[in-house]
Amino acid sequence: MSETAANRTSLFPTTIAGSLPKPAWLAETQSLWPAWKLSGRDLEEAKKDATLLWVKTQEDAGIDILTDGEQSRQHFVHGFLESVEGIDFENKVKMGIRNNRYEALVPIVVGPVRLKSRVHGTEAALVRAHTARQVKMTLPGPMTLVDTIADRFYGDKPTLAFALADLLNSEARALEKQGVDVIQFDEPAFNVYMDEVRQWGILALHRAIEGLQCKTAVHICYGYGIKANIDWKKSLGNQWRQYEEIFPALAASRLDQVSIECANSRVPTSLLAHLAGKDVLLGVIDVASEKVETAEEVARVIEEALNFVPKERIFACTNCGMAPMKRELAEAKLAAIASGAALARSRLV
Ligand code: ZN
Repeated sequence: MSETAANRTSLFPTTIAGSLPKPAWLAETQSLWPAWKLSGRDLEEAKKDATLLWVKTQEDAGIDILTDGEQSRQHFVHGFLESVEGIDFENKVKMGIRNNRYEALVPIVVGPVRLKSRVHGTEAALVRAHTARQVKMTLPGPMTLVDTIADRFYGDKPTLAFALADLLNSEARALEKQGVDVIQFDEPAFNVYMDEVRQWGILALHRAIEGLQCKTAVHICYGYGIKANIDWKKSLGNQWRQYEEIFPALAASRLDQVSIECANSRVPTSLLAHLAGKDVLLGVIDVASEKVETAEEVARVIEEALNFVPKERIFACTNCGMAPMKRELAEAKLAAIASGAALARSRLV
């Protein structure tokens, strides 16, 4: 292979935002808060089986940087909080989250937060042992955690965020020791509270990544394709420019990668120019649509981004998590990422 050809094959590595649908034998399907179908040891075994199944499916689809598909967590936020002491899950309260865009039943912070145990050690070890490819693990970001729990102990958001960031950091360091290559923090709250992102949101993320040598990423987005989000997006106008306010701060941050939705999105691609120096995990797959993207459509999103991002910094990714999607649809969309990235690569001379 010539050097140019070798370079080309390493361009546009493929990955996903994080979550994948749970098989029907593990949990309710097409739900954001799916009930488990099993309990006790059977449930623990089934979570591992589902994780392995998705490792194989991602590899077969041509994904380069694999995740555990978040098969072991019921929800991307509460999957972490369940391992945290000082939080009352028995007496949840209704609270408006994401600036009251929707109501959720949330647990309450009632005392100092501490990790009871490792959070994602089992699934990280499993994925690491079963693939030679790179592995990414996702954790909720501190600001999104704070926005998804009721606080009756710390009294102000940044203080709670930094306390939680310490716990995230301890889990992240342990994941790194297990051989995880990329640790990503999910911060959908980052396009809701733009001032706070600049005041303390990024600082809290810095606390969460302190001391890590592996790649670090932040996923920001306009949310899953659920009704409350679709209605909210309709109110945002033709161009979504919210990120213009936070991209310069993210560009100046110590995070390595930014994951952002660009398929069927109204985020102007030109805004990516504000992320100079960062890898862009470019969303080329619309998780709110049941239509499977063609290779041509995926390649076009990549080629549009090439106008604003150096080619070595572009990764082909999904817009957001695929947890609430039909399983066979998610499988088809995984394959579309790989074929679209390959097509874009082949067109670069
Ligand atoms: Zn997302």
